[in-house]
Amino acid sequence: MQNIGAYGVELEQVFESLTAVQVGTGEKRTFTHADCAFGYRESVFKRDLKGQYIITSVTFRLDKHPTFHTRYGAIQETLANMGVSEDNLTIKAISDAVIHIRRSKLPDPAQIGNAGSFFKNPEIPKDQFDLLKTHYPTLPGYPAGDEQVKVPAGWLIEQAGWKGYRSGDAGVHAKQALVLVNYGSATGDEIMALAKQVQQSVQEKFGVSISPEVNIV
Ligand SMILES: Cc1cc2nc3c(=O)[nH]c(=O)nc-3n(C[C@H](O)[C@H](O)[C@H](O)COP(=O)(O)OP(=O)(O)OC[C@H]3O[C@@H](n4cnc5c(N)ncnc54)[C@H](O)[C@@H]3O)c2cc1C
Repeated sequence: MQNIGAYGVELEQVFESLTAVQVGTGEKRTFTHADCAFGYRESVFKRDLKGQYIITSVTFRLDKHPTFHTRYGAIQETLANMGVSEDNLTIKAISDAVIHIRRSKLPDPAQIGNAGSFFKNPEIPKDQFDLLKTHYPTLPGYPAGDEQVKVPAGWLIEQAGWKGYRSGDAGVHAKQALVLVNYGSATGDEIMALAKQVQQSVQEKFGVSISPEVNIV
């Protein structure tokens, strides 16, 4: 329901259709790509139809001839370290690179409570990006169409000094600032209070608003 994605690829790119059952009536319905209103970490099931449907099956359309998405810096670096070049690139190599990066950076929910990326990467106007870049030359950015630039929220949070921060059992992961973690018995309110502090400080330092990716219940 969240149009999962990573390293420049999203579920919607291979999505064909799904079937779902309406909770209230039990009626079965097919949703096309357009019906799902996919967006960045978004779909109709996270918004207008939240809680109204149970998805029972999804059909994907995969290409028999792979298209490789390697524009993300971390993927390129890891492939290079693995000795993989454009000539011997395979699906398996990319899969191995992604798994390696994620194991090295992301906490395992079985060991430390977390929901993955807590915030979405904000998209800001190109003018604002260019201005920020004059103050922070290492600020990364990815074109997001329509004169918009996507900025890694993890970078902003890290620069605001939160990486590795801990208050009681609520914290910001030491290896990836985009992930809020629960070291044991932090309450939902404590996690939310930390999230608000992080949002405020990023807003104050960069003038950029970051919003949660997680589904808050
Ligand atoms: C370590 C870690 C790394 C992550 N990295 C990424 C990432 O790189 N990119 C990314 O996009 N996400 C990432 N995530 C978030 C991840 O996408 C979500 O946690 C995951 O998609 C939730 O899927 P789930 O099946 O576990 O759903 P659940 O957590 O069980 O449910 C999530 C929501 O979906 C609803 N739901 C579940 N099943 C159905 C259904 N059949 N029909 C309708 N609604 C349903 C639930 O009611 C709930 O509201 C990460 C999470 C973790 C823990």
